[in-house]
Order: sequence, then C-alpha cells, then structure tokens
Amino acid sequence: MMRKFILKIFSYFLFICLQFVFSAVKLHAIPIHKINNAKYIELNDFITTNKCVKYSWDPLSLNLEIECNDKSVQAALEKNYYTSEGKQYYLNSAPIYKDEKIFLPLEFTEELFSELNFNINYKFDSEEIKIEDEAIAGNDEKDFSLTKNYDKLDFIIIDPGHGGKDPGAFAAEGLAEKKITLSAGRIVYYALKKAFPQIKIYSTRFKDKFITLEKRAQIANSKIKKDEFGIFISLHCNATLSKKTNGYEIYYLSQSEDNEESREIMLRENQYESENELINTIESILFNSQIQAESKTLARQINSSLMTYTDNLVKGRGVKKADFAVLRGVLMPAVLIEMGYLSNKREAGVIVQKSFQEKLAEGIIEGIRGFLKKRPRL
Ligand SMILES: [Zn+2]
Repeated sequence: MMRKFILKIFSYFLFICLQFVFSAVKLHAIPIHKINNAKYIELNDFITTNKCVKYSWDPLSLNLEIECNDKSVQAALEKNYYTSEGKQYYLNSAPIYKDEKIFLPLEFTEELFSELNFNINYKFDSEEIKIEDEAIAGNDEKDFSLTKNYDKLDFIIIDPGHGGKDPGAFAAEGLAEKKITLSAGRIVYYALKKAFPQIKIYSTRFKDKFITLEKRAQIANSKIKKDEFGIFISLHCNATLSKKTNGYEIYYLSQSEDNEESREIMLRENQYESENELINTIESILFNSQIQAESKTLARQINSSLMTYTDNLVKGRGVKKADFAVLRGVLMPAVLIEMGYLSNKREAGVIVQKSFQEKLAEGIIEGIRGFLKKRPRL
C-alpha cells in the first residue's frame, strides 16, 4: 500500500517535471500535405529540419539524392524504394513531383531522419511534424545523454510478452502466446548470460504474471544508470485470420506504420494499453531520431542473423515498423520480435519447441554482436 502510494507520488512528480520541460521547449513545425490520400512533406521544408541537409535531383532520370552528416540516401520520383549504404528499402508510397515541387512521403521523411543520422526530437501530428527547435540550429553539442557510450553495452532486457490475465494470441490447440514467450524468454535470458558474461541481463518477467505495458517500459528505464547503455527486446507470437500466413517479423517503433497489416498487429498487441496518465505524457514525448536509428539497426541485424539461424524452421518476413505501446516509453534502442504465427498450425508446432527457441536465442546473440559493430555512431 505504502509502495503504491510512493509510486503514485513519484509518478505525479515526474508528470509535473515533464510538463515543465516540454512547455519550455520551442517547436518548429513543418506542414504535412495530403495528396491522393497519402501524407507528404515538401522537400524544401525537409531541408529546414537540419542545416547540414543538401539535395540534388536530376529532372531527366528523376533521381534524387539527399545528404547530411556524411551520409546519403538515394531515391527517385515515382519509385517505391530508397537506397542507403548500398541497400535498397521498400516504401509504401514514392516521392512525387507536383506543382513544380518535390514531395516526400511522410514514411520516407521519418526514414531520412534516422538514415541521415539526425539527432532530433520529433512528433507527427495530423497536420504537421513538430521538431524541437534546438535541433533546427544543428547544434552538434546536443547529444542524447542516454546513448553517449557508443562502444559498449551495459545491459540487455528481455521482455516476454503478455502473462497472467493477458494470454495474448492462441494456437488452434489452445496454447497461449504468454506461455511460449515465457519459455522462449527464459531460454534467451540464459543464453545471453552465457554469451555476454560482462553484460547485465534482465527479464521483465520469469513467471506467468500480468505486467502492464507501461510497467515493462518502466522496468527497462529503471536499469539506466549514469553513462550506462542498454537494449530492450520484447518477444511475441503473431496470429491472423489466414491460416496460411507464416514467418517471423522484427519490429521497431515508428510513427508511420508500414501498412494495414502492421496496424492490425499493433492494435492486437496494444490491447492492454492503459489510460495511465504518466504514460500518456511519455507518449507525447517527442521521438528521438538517434534511438530510432539504433532500434532500426538492431532490428536489421537481428533479422539478418535470424535468417541464418531459424530460416529452415520459420521464414523471415523482414523488418517492419509499428507503434507498439510497449516500445513507446522505452528510452533505449528497442525491438519487438514476432517469433511466428500461432494461427499457422505447422508454425505453432515449431515455435513452441525448445530447439527452435534455442536457435532464436543464437540468432538474437549474433544480431546483438552485429549491432554493436554497426551502431550508427561507431
Ligand atoms: Zn503479443
């Protein structure tokens, strides 16, 4: 009772502090344009987001190149992909040319923030993108304190999804997602301990216990100490109406969901999101582009190593983005792994097995090693 009371007081105090901090921050806003039911921002507005941005475009080939911080991204008008560091990534809508202006899809704009190594805080509203003013000045001194040490990892938190009164999705035989995530979580936890003896390994739960989504983020954030750097990995299983759909997916947090399917998965996973006042405030905190860039790198690295370790068991459906409540409040690079589809009978039979979960653990370990080599700021 006393603990609850203290927590409440602390939450309230933090709420007041955050209100104060955010009322003091000046925001720069860039208008969002709706064209043919999709959202865009004008390229000329995009270049005001960071003083290092330069672009060139060739009206004959329609190729577009955008540069900043010694990084460059190539795209083309009317083409649904972009290239960064020699790799091609899919876009739901393409950059377009209209009324003698170039428009970038909102999704691509967010990709550019992380691909070009911006260090900004931002938020998408329905009519505009809000960006913290300090960042507009291109102040390189302003480093996000939580990600300062680029060459080490101090802790890893595994988050087995669901638990207790929240069973998550179900397999045909009635097996609940919460049980699979718990057993996979345990296997991954002990494998990480063995693979990284110098790194602290935590788990949000070791029992069949209900933990709210915001509590999971709080547990993760409570591990952050001065100059310490950690990553958060949430484990889940997918389900859909189609019994044929199969494969694993690695998600990172984004304000622009991939597509309708990602949206449905997000709504299912966010079912137990509460109306907690504190988390509502955290939700309204601006996204940090560096944490997002690192989450994306972590997702890509885990995805490519899982392809090696689990591909003959569960095929990879790639890296995706969605607005998962559990990732929203986590102040460190974070990914959510949908290990496979429980609605697919064969796949449910695979992911429930210890042998698969051990492969998953090996893939995650290899992915973390790749992430540490590839971190955007290294
Ligand atoms: Zn889940």
